[in-house]
Parts: sequence; C-alpha cells; structure tokens
Amino acid sequence: MDDCLFCKIAGGKIPAKLVLDEPDIAAFEDINPQAPVHLLLIPRRHVASLNETTEEDAPLLGRLLTAARRLAREKGIDASGYRVVVNTMAGAGQSVFHVHLHLLGGRPMHWPPG
Ligand code: 5GP
Ligand code: ZN
Repeated sequence: MDDCLFCKIAGGKIPAKLVLDEPDIAAFEDINPQAPVHLLLIPRRHVASLNETTEEDAPLLGRLLTAARRLAREKGIDASGYRVVVNTMAGAGQSVFHVHLHLLGGRPMHWPPG
C-alpha cells in the first residue's frame, strides 16, 4: 500500500535496521525502543491489523511467531524472557496500521501491561 509506513520499510523505500529479510516476512529495530531489545516483525503483504487476518493467514501468522522465537534466541533473551505483543486498534495502542508483532526483552517485564 502506497501510503503505509511499514510497506515502505518492507520495500526498502524508508530505511530501517533490518534483522530479518525473508520473502514473506521482515523484522527491524523499533525506532523508539521500549526495552533493550525491541523488534518489529511484519508480513510484507499489507494487512492493516489482526482484525483483517483470516484463517488463510494462519501459516503466515505462525511464521511471524516462530521468527520471533528465533530472533529472541539470536538476541540472547530466550532464557531471561521476552514478550510478544500485537496492539490491535487505537484503543490498544496501535499507531501503525500494518499488522506487526513487537518483540520486547532484555529487562524485567511487569503484568498487567498498561
Ligand atoms: P504500534 O503502536 O502500532 O503497536 O507500534 C508501532 C511501532 O512502530 C512503535 O513502537 C513505533 O516506535 C514504531 N515506529 C514508528 N515509526 C517508525 C519508523 O519510521 N521506523 C521504525 N523502525 N519504527 C517506527
Ligand atoms: Zn502496509
């Protein structure tokens, strides 16, 4: 989608610190990290939010989760702990409407989240 920030990052039109570059998914460092490790994982195909995903997206969503697991291990936060978050719609904090997983770790996490 032309005016989507994460589509532009996925297409290389806006620079980002890529940590994963695969045919259907990509991951990059969050520009405003909320933890020592804060990565964003996205499908390359534009999907606005989790609300727009379907049963047919289950393999894609699964690949995003298994990529988060791999990246957590690469970043050394698999044993200490990490959090995967999908903010969905503005009331939950979604500000970029291209579905994405936050991978956060490297510091203690509290519950419940704000
Ligand atoms: P949301 O609030 O939609 O769940 O998450 C959007 C995330 O995108 C935020 O954590 C924000 O810091 C990050 N972000 C916004 N603009 C950019 C950008 O231009 N580059 C990168 N790398 N991250 C961004
Ligand atoms: Zn997009």
